[in-house]
Amino acid sequence: MTVDLRQRIADLGASLFARRLTFGRTGNISVRTGDHVLLTPTGASLGALDPAELSVLDLEGTHLDGRKPSKEAFLHLAMYRARPAETAVVHLHSTYSVAVSCLAGLDESNALPPLTAYYAMRVGALPLLPYHAPGDARLGPLAEKVAGEHHALLLANHGPIVAGRDLAVATDAVEELEETARIFLLVRDLPTRPLGQDQVAELHAKGLTS
Ligand code: ZN
Repeated sequence: MTVDLRQRIADLGASLFARRLTFGRTGNISVRTGDHVLLTPTGASLGALDPAELSVLDLEGTHLDGRKPSKEAFLHLAMYRARPAETAVVHLHSTYSVAVSCLAGLDESNALPPLTAYYAMRVGALPLLPYHAPGDARLGPLAEKVAGEHHALLLANHGPIVAGRDLAVATDAVEELEETARIFLLVRDLPTRPLGQDQVAELHAKGLTS
């Protein structure tokens, strides 16, 4: 694990925290290199990460080095096992995404409609996983099963978790998700025209989707 990679995780955490995309000691970031995962520690504020203290795990969850990992490590590992081509995972308790995750009557196969092309390109469908208490490892197998088909998941009454081929792609996607959740709440009670299936298909055909 390079010093540069550790610093990039700390810099990203500081950026997300400064923009209030996470707060307190919530949220976690990981990067996979081969069969090792570098993850933010338990009880850490993303706004004040020490690059030298990041946790190192293997894909089975064995703690190899650094501070004790986040208790949500199992969710990151589930994403990597399901999506071997992807090398970064970002999980946030970002306000508007969490607000959507608390709504009754969501479509569990896709919690947010494709309101904009950038949402359709960077996030796509957003399955909703049922509520579990923080750290409840029973959520892991559910996440792993759904993540085989989807790189972005919304945890009910909790928040989003997004995988990407690198840290920048995962971050772009979770930020797009957060802004779309905000837009969704703004227009929810207004007549709204999301993109149609043909318009989303056009994005796929042009290779613009993740
Ligand atoms: Zn969480």
